[in-house]
Amino acid sequence: MRVKSDKVAVIGAGPMGLAVAYELILKGYKPEIFEADNRLGGMAASFNFDGLEIERYYHFHCLNDYAFFDLLDEIGLKKELRWKKTKMGFFYQNKLYKWGSLSSVLFFNKVSILTRIRYLLHALRCLTKKDWNNLDKISAIDWLKNWLGKEGYNILWEKLFVYKFYNFSGTISAAWIWSRIKRLGRSRKKLIENLGYLNNGSLELINKLEKIIKNNGGVIHLSNPILCINPIKNGGAQLKSFNKTDSYDSVISTIPIPLLTKIFKASRINRRIIKNYEKTISIACACVILKTSKKITTNFWTNINDDRFSIPGIVEMSNLRELNAHIIYVPFYMPTNHPNYLKSNEILIKEAWDCVKAINPNLEDKDLISSCCNRYKYAQPVICTEYKKNLPSQEPFKRIFTVDTTFYYPEDRGISESIGLGRDLVRNNFE
Ligand SMILES: Cc1cc2nc3c(=O)[nH]c(=O)nc-3n(C[C@H](O)[C@H](O)[C@H](O)COP(=O)(O)OP(=O)(O)OC[C@H]3O[C@@H](n4cnc5c(N)ncnc54)[C@H](O)[C@@H]3O)c2cc1C
Repeated sequence: MRVKSDKVAVIGAGPMGLAVAYELILKGYKPEIFEADNRLGGMAASFNFDGLEIERYYHFHCLNDYAFFDLLDEIGLKKELRWKKTKMGFFYQNKLYKWGSLSSVLFFNKVSILTRIRYLLHALRCLTKKDWNNLDKISAIDWLKNWLGKEGYNILWEKLFVYKFYNFSGTISAAWIWSRIKRLGRSRKKLIENLGYLNNGSLELINKLEKIIKNNGGVIHLSNPILCINPIKNGGAQLKSFNKTDSYDSVISTIPIPLLTKIFKASRINRRIIKNYEKTISIACACVILKTSKKITTNFWTNINDDRFSIPGIVEMSNLRELNAHIIYVPFYMPTNHPNYLKSNEILIKEAWDCVKAINPNLEDKDLISSCCNRYKYAQPVICTEYKKNLPSQEPFKRIFTVDTTFYYPEDRGISESIGLGRDLVRNNFE
């Protein structure tokens, strides 16, 4: 392989930034990676929670995460992938129901039999539908109401939207929700949900990529956010980071678009171009993690429709991954200007614990061993109708590429999708 002398900078070291750097290494470049955080991994980063190295935010993989599998195969990690038959639940009117399977939906007598059949037909339609262009133009809520009726939407879906997108709920595109339902729906063997995880979580992948990048001449700067990107006339940019100013022949930014917009505003960038980036809005996530002495349920995922809690669902990670502890993630999604975001971690932890105790009344306060709350301001992009038309350019200036999780629309943010997009970008634009 010919070593390339071009200077290439990658901004952000989440799964996408690391996949970009890895692909550059394969092509003979020695990229420089700038990461604002003090660790690699972005949303998929891990931390020490009460002696356990786990992800700050829950992560599972689906049977159709092909870009993820290809990468694991190449770097020798496929053997670390595990699969498990997982179950879903639905907590409604103070009772925990089975959910997610054909029989559980058919036996859910809190909605009419007609609604149950409509729900199943809609799920089937999501699996068979291929062309999503018409869904890009309509709102997810209208689409769901059309399929399920008002009763079905109100009981089965409304809270999932309201407690994720709040005032943006009505703007979400049907194409986005379709791709989410399809991804999970296709992660089934003989109709039973099968979800995957890496033996040591996402950390395994992040560590391996870091090693490959560093061993092949790549340089990683941690705790070193990029502050300014000033395009150079013939291509590339001068980058100003926390402690370095340098020029690069090519720059690939993988950071969330709202953050890039702020950097553009601090740089010599035309207002007209910045305007295209300003349209992307993101929802924050304050994700509570609880360690308990007992199982809450036997489900991996439990959807919640309960007015007492602003929680769309809980994820019982230890029912997927072997962790030698009972670990539950309770995500609170919300816009950062929502009053709930100002609530302290302690208040959110209390709300999460109250919710978990409502789901399993056998739990007592002494069963809560440990708790914490991690926050990410740009956890979930608000994917509005006609999103495709409004996406900014991937290369707004010569040899400056700007991508993030919204660029694989209509797919939802995901590790596999970020890896796939990052690698394709390099394959298509670098010799
Ligand atoms: C609660 C939650 C649950 C999730 N569950 C799943 C799941 O089950 N399965 C799945 O596949 N995916 C899941 N995801 C999504 C998955 O984590 C993301 O799709 C993936 O991590 C995106 O990677 P990325 O590299 O594109 O972006 P990010 O992970 O957002 O990485 C961007 C990086 O850029 C850095 N950065 C920001 N500003 C600057 C700057 N100025 N200079 C330098 N660096 C900067 C950030 O610190 C960050 O490390 C989940 C996410 C969340 C929040």
